[in-house]
Amino acid sequence: MPELPEVETSRRGILPYLKGQTIKKIIVRQPKLRWPIDKTIEQAQGQVILDVKRRAKYLLLQLTNNWIVIHLGMSGSLRILVNQQEVAKHDHVDLVLSNGVILRYTDPRRFGCWLWTDSIDNVSQLKHLGPEPLSEAFSAEYLLAKAKNRQVPIKSWIMDNHIVVGVGNIYASESLFMAKINPNRKVSSLKLNEFVRLVTAIKYVLTKSIEQGGTTLKDFLQSDGKPGYFAQKLQVYGRAGEPCLICQNEIKAQKIGQRNTFYCESCQKLDSE
Ligand SMILES: [Zn+2]
Repeated sequence: MPELPEVETSRRGILPYLKGQTIKKIIVRQPKLRWPIDKTIEQAQGQVILDVKRRAKYLLLQLTNNWIVIHLGMSGSLRILVNQQEVAKHDHVDLVLSNGVILRYTDPRRFGCWLWTDSIDNVSQLKHLGPEPLSEAFSAEYLLAKAKNRQVPIKSWIMDNHIVVGVGNIYASESLFMAKINPNRKVSSLKLNEFVRLVTAIKYVLTKSIEQGGTTLKDFLQSDGKPGYFAQKLQVYGRAGEPCLICQNEIKAQKIGQRNTFYCESCQKLDSE
């Protein structure tokens, strides 16, 4: 599943080809995505793409009068085609632009979406989302205020989109390891200094991943449309039974909220501060 860094990498990859271009034609071959593509999306034709933004894992194409909101779902990808290429089975949408470029959306499992709206405030999927992890609004003070009386494990809480968007399962394990916080700790037991470490770690891990995705933009413009993803070296995720890179203790695997979680019991003590 594309994670926030991959979506941000996609945004940066397509932006220079889309910004300022007029949409000559939109071709919808398969409207049955997670939510059906509205027929009125044809009104995109003739409109200029003013900007390509991102909120959580949604890409927001800001047009002259409307917005197109794209989610890649489980298996979606976007490609920039500079030459006409044969249409394959799962190529559901093309945006044909005035510069000759085609933005092609491919999604074998069709859990993604293309929403059409005249106001971004009307998009229910974007309501009630927590702050962006790389924004100033996502801070230790913010988390401390939200954490009051919360008894859930910190690992599950930090993956909740209402608290903060974009902290996927792998990033949660990696960030908690870097912050030396046990993933089973109850949210309300965490102190401000621990939230400072956690926020710093989350921002670091996501920023690194975006930077490394950027190095594969060249491939992204070619065949498979998948930018580099988790190219960074994982410290704990997937390393059960292997030695901790800091203390050599065995990395432990455990399900927390049905999700695989990896940590070092020695570096991430249950009673630590
Ligand atoms: Zn360790």
